[in-house]
Amino acid sequence: MTVAEAAGKSGALERYEAVIGIEIHCQLKTVSKMFCGCSTEIDGAAPNSHCCPVCLGLPGVLPTINKTAVEFVIATGFAIEATIAQTTRWDRKNYFYPDLPKGYQISQYQLPLAANGRLTFGTSDGPFTVCVRRAHLEEDTGRLIHAELGGRRVSLIDFNRSGMPLMEIVTEPDIRTAEQARRYAEELRLLMRTIGASDAEMENGQMRVEANVSIRPRGREAFGTRVEVKNMNSMRAVERAIAFEIERQAVAVDAGETIHMETRGWDEARQSTYHMRPKEEENDYRYFPEPDLPPLLTSPEWLAEIKARLPELPAAVRTRYQDELGLSSYDSMVLVGDPAAKALFEGALAAGTGVPAKLVANWVAGEYMRLAKGETGAAGSVDPAELAALVKLVADGAISGTNAKEVLAEHYTSGAPVAAIIESRGFRQISDAGALGTAIDAVLAANPAAVADYKAGKGAAVGFLVGQVMRATRGQANAAMVGAALRERLDKAD
Ligand SMILES: [Zn+2]
Repeated sequence: MTVAEAAGKSGALERYEAVIGIEIHCQLKTVSKMFCGCSTEIDGAAPNSHCCPVCLGLPGVLPTINKTAVEFVIATGFAIEATIAQTTRWDRKNYFYPDLPKGYQISQYQLPLAANGRLTFGTSDGPFTVCVRRAHLEEDTGRLIHAELGGRRVSLIDFNRSGMPLMEIVTEPDIRTAEQARRYAEELRLLMRTIGASDAEMENGQMRVEANVSIRPRGREAFGTRVEVKNMNSMRAVERAIAFEIERQAVAVDAGETIHMETRGWDEARQSTYHMRPKEEENDYRYFPEPDLPPLLTSPEWLAEIKARLPELPAAVRTRYQDELGLSSYDSMVLVGDPAAKALFEGALAAGTGVPAKLVANWVAGEYMRLAKGETGAAGSVDPAELAALVKLVADGAISGTNAKEVLAEHYTSGAPVAAIIESRGFRQISDAGALGTAIDAVLAANPAAVADYKAGKGAAVGFLVGQVMRATRGQANAAMVGAALRERLDKAD
């Protein structure tokens, strides 16, 4: 068991309450950068191939605002029920670092585009709501690459990322557990993808999650000293890093140690956080209004236009699935959380075979997701109409559920029609009463002891007899029909 897995198991969470705030940076999915015309297609591009005088911060250049980036932040603001600023402005955040050629970053300080929002999502303890303090726009920095060149350790700079549009979303310190933190980040990622604002892939830095974590004895109001945790490259890492950090702080406080303000990184290999740098005070960035850009005004017409373009949001879809289609909250969560699963589910319903949505949902959230997660090691896809046909055959008792799973797995990898697979594998169930009757009579004749047991009041003997019929028909009999027919015959014989 790793330390992170041990977190919460030592009783730390019984004595201490964790206070967690999350900051997320999302790279917005625009065609050009935040303040210049450079392309944002920088993945895998040669270093410094996507730069111009503006994003290199050369003297005498002027930034221009990317309208789409602004619209993405406003759309996000609407999606989290935030207040959208009527007037906002840009500020210069000043600091020196080699990856920031201008010596300042254009950001939004006092007047963020969106403020006071909230996001509700499911957890193992039920729905949880986090208040979102603000969402604002800024530009990304360049990237330092530390390498060895000709036997010397050097630091190289790639400015392709410089000026990429970033949205920063900051929560209030409302989160209390590592699981809530992970679910919040997952819900926000889903929202970004639904709106189309960001691909939000954590692995390649399109979505960067940072957590401020502190603990306090249960029942106390005052916050403890907070520690910033970075470098979490997956949702699993977010949960584990925070769980580890809560545990680390609890052990330290129990031992009489003082928690220091610091930035810690997550070490995936060791499954622990490590000290990166101390954080003595809030940095003084000497913010001041960006003189090269006018204030940004958001007209009611423009806002209405952005709002009208919003797609149906994940929370609304989940509610619709539960209220109108009768799905469980678990199935709704799984389907809405995975765009391919959602498309398959809706496509199968649209195929119009008349099978209940709940049955289709079971198959998508269960078998399909198992296949899609690669648990069988194969890649493939499921045709919605074929899935609908398969579920209908199971519902009608034409094939068994067990066989249907094999059919789906084969369809997933080969793409062959469901009907052809059933035919070639001889999976069609015997639901014909006459054919079943012959098999049942044979089994009854061959098992007089079980028949006697049943008549002596041992109802369980039916299960044995059903099993014998299934064996005799090589699993092709409709088990429910066999059970009913057996009971009918046995009771009649009295
Ligand atoms: Zn540029």
